[in-house]
Amino acid sequence: MSENNNAPVNDNRRQFLSATAAMAGVAIAPGVVLYNIAQAKPADQPASKQVRWGMLIDTNQCQDGCNDCVTACGTENGFGHGTKETDSQWIRKVELKDMRSSQTKSLPVMCQHCEEPPCVDVCPTGASFKRADGIVLVDRHICIGCRYCMMACPYKARSFVHEPITDQNPDVPRGIGCVESCTLCVHRVDRDQQPACVEACSKAGHGAIIFGNLNDPNSEIAKRVAEHSTAQLRADLNLNPGVRYQGF
Ligand code: SF4
Ligand code: SF4
Repeated sequence: MSENNNAPVNDNRRQFLSATAAMAGVAIAPGVVLYNIAQAKPADQPASKQVRWGMLIDTNQCQDGCNDCVTACGTENGFGHGTKETDSQWIRKVELKDMRSSQTKSLPVMCQHCEEPPCVDVCPTGASFKRADGIVLVDRHICIGCRYCMMACPYKARSFVHEPITDQNPDVPRGIGCVESCTLCVHRVDRDQQPACVEACSKAGHGAIIFGNLNDPNSEIAKRVAEHSTAQLRADLNLNPGVRYQGF
């Protein structure tokens, strides 16, 4: 389905920001595991600052050469898979090599959903914004494509849309001339579903990515963060990302 670029801004924005359908518990495709994250907000409620959505990536479980998370992200959010230089890329695999041991680690990197996001600080229009629950988004109806946020992001997490978009997921409004990045699959999270990359990693049997509420001490992610040594990328920048890494 192609996007209606003339749809009222407020309607589209509301669609983007709010939970769009109470789909938790509905039938899903055979073999697809539906993870109930239990703390998704009701469709008519704003995001709550009681929740801090985050991800924990276990680099010991992440497999060299596996790109399932990257593929799932592209499929879910309606963009190419890096076949063209201009394709958006919201998540990428990075190889780290320990120079002393020559051991390598493979890990996915996406928007880190910073608590203090420089992309929001530099945005002249307010298009870059952070929800109360920590998810950092771009409102494409306000974005003027200046790309200040791309320069400000220390994780190179944002992409510019160079070409008209067709066949996009109506739940993920995108548009030429705008900047975009990982939304933590906010449209799924608000329906009580896991982000697509998390689901794909689990289906592949790796289970390297955990998603959940960092503020809930009973959540799996909070327990893992409490029990294990985890790291934030470029913690020295004091941005307090919501994405953490375990195993290095
Ligand atoms: Fe913004 Fe980059 Fe931080 Fe994401 S990783 S919140 S795009 S500064
Ligand atoms: Fe804000 Fe868009 Fe400019 Fe980024 S490209 S700083 S989101 S107006």
